[in-house]
Amino acid sequence: MFKINDNYLKLPGSYLFSTIAKKVTAYKESNPNNKVISLGIGDVTQPLAPAIIEAMHKAVDEMADASTFRGYAPDLGYEFLRRAIADNDYKSRGVELALDEIFISDGAKSDSGNIVDIFAQNNKIAVTDPVYPVYVDSNAMAGKTGDYLKDRECWSNVVYMPCTAENNFVPELPSDTPDIIYICCPNNPTGTALKKSDLQKWVDYANEKKAVIIYDAAYEAYISEEDVPHSIYECEGAKTCAIEMRSFSKNAGFTGTRLGFTVIPKELTCDGTSLNGLWARRHGTKFNGAPYIIQRAGEAVYSKEGREQTGKQIAYYMNNAKEIRNALEGMGYTVFGGVNAPYIWLKTPDGMKSWDFFDVLLEKANVVGTPGSGFGPSGEGYFRLTAFGSAESTKEALERIKKL
Ligand SMILES: *Cc1c(COP(=O)(O)O)cnc(C)c1O
Repeated sequence: MFKINDNYLKLPGSYLFSTIAKKVTAYKESNPNNKVISLGIGDVTQPLAPAIIEAMHKAVDEMADASTFRGYAPDLGYEFLRRAIADNDYKSRGVELALDEIFISDGAKSDSGNIVDIFAQNNKIAVTDPVYPVYVDSNAMAGKTGDYLKDRECWSNVVYMPCTAENNFVPELPSDTPDIIYICCPNNPTGTALKKSDLQKWVDYANEKKAVIIYDAAYEAYISEEDVPHSIYECEGAKTCAIEMRSFSKNAGFTGTRLGFTVIPKELTCDGTSLNGLWARRHGTKFNGAPYIIQRAGEAVYSKEGREQTGKQIAYYMNNAKEIRNALEGMGYTVFGGVNAPYIWLKTPDGMKSWDFFDVLLEKANVVGTPGSGFGPSGEGYFRLTAFGSAESTKEALERIKKL
């Protein structure tokens, strides 16, 4: 008789965004005349840039001709893309990577789920709290997080590192030593970013404790401050303790197109075994790479036109972020983020619970945001708004919030 993976039964109710979608659908059904604006979900809205579309069209034509047709992509991804990444994302910042330390994939979310496979069952993970829910969920599905404690809304075998206004959203080194440390920087949902000196402390700690850092740099392109590193490998010693994940989703609009990559330096070892080798094996047998057409699209992001065009999109979103920040501050809200990330993280007014504020915003302003508590226990009392809407709808949403 077959058996299911009963770790799935331990997962709490439903994924945060499914709960939000259900609430919004119900509201729209009973109020069909009210126009709801979403400043909630972390998805881009600007279309793919012309340089990217052009590269895709060209690649499509190549697929129609026997002399240029491509079948299965190479395990690690096409060299043209890995080279563009090594040169533009790393070499330009003083980081030398070998091309076989870069693994092309269909996105950082897939890689976050798959990376769990190369680690033993009895590792203890640590996450900043609040954070992107995928890290904990993926480990929970693999049975690595212990039991879900309903009353505290957390897992028994996870080290939560609170990031709140009190510590400026910089996690403190935990007293309970973890084996695998997830750091998302710039952070989703708080929008805050670690300065190089703060990140260096984590790298030193991981090397000392023989822990590994999984560093999610999906929002790297939004960094505007000088002292915030774009890659963890800008910190000394990071190659022996850190895996870095990146995505083309938020910097170039590939959320629906799917493209990302993971870097595992060869120096990163566990008792003499290279993690790069393990991940290469996994990639080779359960390839979750991206199609040729999409990898060509990714290459185009690094062209002169590609960089200019995607740079304009980021500037557009960050202008929204600035508008949201300024407007909310003007209304008396306490606001964080929005400087190195497209997320604005605010304190709910009058110490309201995150979900109560969600309901008020939906019902009174017809604006959808994301309750902070959905990203972890320390997110309670906070709320996330995103800068991914159009400038017009963002402005309208802010006017409605002002009237609350
Ligand atoms: C959106 C996002 C990603 C991107 O994932 P993809 O699968 O590449 O679309 C990764 N990490 C974080 C924290 C995100 O918010």
